[in-house]
Amino acid sequence: MTLRGRLTAAFLAVVLGPVLLGALFVGGTVSAVGRDRAVDRLGVAATAVRTSVSSLCLQLQAAADAVAVTADPARQTDIASQVVARGLASGVVVENADGVPRLRTPGSPARPWADCARPTDAGPFLGLAVGIETRDAAGAPLGVIWATHDLDAAMIGRLGGATGTAVTLLQGGSAVHSTESPGALADVVAAAAGVRGDNVAETAGGRFVRRVGPSAGQPLPLVLSVPAGEPQALYGLLVAAVVLAGLFAVGAAWWLARTTTRPLAELAGAADRAAGGDLAARVPVRGRDEVGRLAVAFNRMTRETQAYVRALTTSRDQLRGHLAVLGDTLSSTHDLQRILQVILETARAATGASGGVVLLLDPATGTLVGQCGLAVDVAGRRVPVGEGLLGWVAATGLPRRGRVDRDGPSLSPFEPRCRTYVAVPFNVAGPVTDPVPVPGVQPAEPPTASGVLALYDRLGSDEFDDADLITLRTFAGQAAVAVDNVRVHQEAQRLSLTDPLTGLWNYRYLRESIRREVERASRFGRMLAVLALDLDRFKEVNDTYGHAAGDAVLLEFAGRIRGVVREVDLAFRQGGEEFVVLLPETDADGAATVAQRLGAAVRDEPIEVEGTGGIEVTVSIGIAVFPSHATTVQAVLDAADDALYAAKAAGRDGYRTAPGERPTMAEIKVTSGAVPPDGNLPRAGGTGPIRPAGGASSGTQPPRQTRGG
Ligand code: GH3
Ligand code: MG
Ligand code: MG
Repeated sequence: MTLRGRLTAAFLAVVLGPVLLGALFVGGTVSAVGRDRAVDRLGVAATAVRTSVSSLCLQLQAAADAVAVTADPARQTDIASQVVARGLASGVVVENADGVPRLRTPGSPARPWADCARPTDAGPFLGLAVGIETRDAAGAPLGVIWATHDLDAAMIGRLGGATGTAVTLLQGGSAVHSTESPGALADVVAAAAGVRGDNVAETAGGRFVRRVGPSAGQPLPLVLSVPAGEPQALYGLLVAAVVLAGLFAVGAAWWLARTTTRPLAELAGAADRAAGGDLAARVPVRGRDEVGRLAVAFNRMTRETQAYVRALTTSRDQLRGHLAVLGDTLSSTHDLQRILQVILETARAATGASGGVVLLLDPATGTLVGQCGLAVDVAGRRVPVGEGLLGWVAATGLPRRGRVDRDGPSLSPFEPRCRTYVAVPFNVAGPVTDPVPVPGVQPAEPPTASGVLALYDRLGSDEFDDADLITLRTFAGQAAVAVDNVRVHQEAQRLSLTDPLTGLWNYRYLRESIRREVERASRFGRMLAVLALDLDRFKEVNDTYGHAAGDAVLLEFAGRIRGVVREVDLAFRQGGEEFVVLLPETDADGAATVAQRLGAAVRDEPIEVEGTGGIEVTVSIGIAVFPSHATTVQAVLDAADDALYAAKAAGRDGYRTAPGERPTMAEIKVTSGAVPPDGNLPRAGGTGPIRPAGGASSGTQPPRQTRGG
C-alpha cells in the first residue's frame, strides 16, 4: 500500500469514525427523546382522559342526585326532563326495587352501561352511567336512579380532541369507536392487547400505545395512541450531514495525502536520479514544513556533492598532468634538481600543500642540504641531522605529520617556518653515504635517512592526514629511486670516462676534453698547455718487480700527478705508462714549472711497493702550448709527443718544450680556469660519492686515491 493510500485511509478513519459515531449517538438520542416525549404525551393524555371521564361521572352523579331529591314519581319525571334538557345527562332511568324501570326519559342509552362506581371489562357498553340507590324512611330500598350518558363516536371524538391523541374504545378486545386512522387501527388494537398498566407499546407503524381504564372514576376501556413523533426529517438531515462529512473527508484526505506525498515522491525521484549519478538533480521546495526543509537539505547536499566532485575531477586532472610530467621527467633527464622539483610539485598537487622542500643528506657534514623547494627558498639551507622537524625525521628515519603549534617539534632555525606539516624520510640505495671522514663534524650516530621530503601548510583543510602521509611516502620512494638512478648514471658515465687502474680520465675523455679546451681557448684568446708524460724504462720495472708492482707504480704515479696539478687542471692516462696533463690558461713557462715539479715529485721519492724496498722511477715530459706551438687539437698533441721524444732523446728524466714562438703569461690575461667536464664529474676522474649540489666539495672533490708515501 502506498504512503498516499495509507494517509488517506488513516485520515478517513480519524475523521469518518467520529462522524459516524456521532451520527449514531445523535440518532439514538433523538429516538430516545422521541419515545420519552411520546410517553409523556400519553401520560398527560391519560390524565386528561381520566379527568374528563371522572368529571362526566360527577356530572351524572349530580344529575342522579337531583332526581333523587324527591320520591314523588311525577316530580321525579319533571326533574329528569329538566336534567336531560339542560344536558347534564343523556337520559335518566329510575328503577324500582325489583330493577324494573318505572321512569325512563326518552333517548336514554340502552344497557349495558359502564358504571362509574364499578368499573368492569364486561361490555360492550352503550352508555356511561351513575346510579343512586334510594330508600324509604324505614330504610327499605326503593330502587336505583340512573343518570346515563351516550357512549358514542361523538364522545370518543371529543375525548380525542381534548387530549390531542387518537382515542379508541375497546369492547371485548376489539375497537368500537376510534379516532385512529383506519390504517393504523388494527396495529394499535393488537399492540394494546399486550399492554398493562401505565406501560407504553410501540406499533410497527411507529405509534406509541397505552391503555387508560377501566379504573375507579374512569370505567371505560380506552386506548390512547400518538405517533412516534420522531422527526424523520431529522434522520434524513443526519444522513445527509454524514454523507456530506464523508465526502468532505474523502476530498480532504485526498488533498492532504496528495500535498503530503507529492514532495516526497519528487524527493524520491530526485534521490533516484542522484543515485544514478545525476548530481544536477534538484527538487522544488514547496513550503517551509519538514518536507520542505528536507528538500532544501537535499538540494544543498547534491549541490555540494556536485561541487565536490567537480573539484575532485579538476584535481584528478591536474594530478594526471603532474604525473605525466613526472613520468616524462623521470624517463628523459638525469638532472637531479629537475627530477626532485617535479616530484615535489606532483606531491604538492596530490596533497594540496602550499609549499614543500626536498633535502639530501651531506654525509660529510651530517647536515641536510636543501635541493629544491616550492614556496620555500632552499638556497644555502642546511639543517643539522637531529635538529628540528626535518633533522628528527632524517635521524630517526620515521615519517611525521601534525601541527607545529599543537604538537611541535620546535623547528630548527635553519628549516622553513610552517603551521602544519608532513615529512617523510627516504633512503638512496647504494653507497651514497660512503663516509669521507671530516674531523669534528661527523654525526655521533649515523642518520637512517639519506633525504627528507616535506610538505607544508595544507590548503583548505586543517591538517595533513594519513592518506597524505602514504602519498608522500610514495613520492619519497620515487625521489629515492631518482637519486639512485642519477647516481648510477653518473657512476656509469664516470666509469666510461675514467681509467680503472689509476682513476684518472681515460683516452676517450682526453680526446673530448682537449677538443673542448682548445675550442674555448681559441674563442676567448687563451692559452692551453699540453704535457705528454712517459715513464722512463718502465719495461724494466715490470721485468724486475713484476707486472703487479708495475701497476702499483702507475697508481702511485697518478696520485703524484694529482698532488702537483691545480684544481682546474685535467690529468689523463693515455694508455700504458703514458699520461697527458691539460693546463688551461697556462703558457710554456708555467707548463715548464709544472713539468719540473712533476719530474721532482717522481724522482725525489722512490715508490714504495711491498717486497721491493722502493722502486725508483723517473718521467720524461714533452710540452706544447696552444696556440703557440700548434693551432689544432691533433697538432698540439703531436707537438707535445714530439717534445716528449726529444726529452727521451735528451737522456730522459726531464722535459722539453715544442719548438717555436713562446709568448709569456704577461701577454695573456688569465681570468678563470676551465669548466669541469660534466655536472658533478671530477676533473681528474675521481670516484668519490655524489655530493649534493651546493655541497662543500661538489664537482671538484679529490679523487679516490690519495698520495702514497
Ligand atoms: P722508454 O719509454 O724510456 O723508452 O722505455 P720504456 O721501457 O718505458 O719503453 P716503452 O714505452 O716501449 O715500454 C712501455 C712498457 O710499459 C711496456 C709494458 O711492459 C709496460 N706497460 C705498458 N702498460 C702497462 C701496464 O698497464 N702495467 C704495467 N705494469 N706495465 C705496462
Ligand atoms: Mg711508453
Ligand atoms: Mg716508457
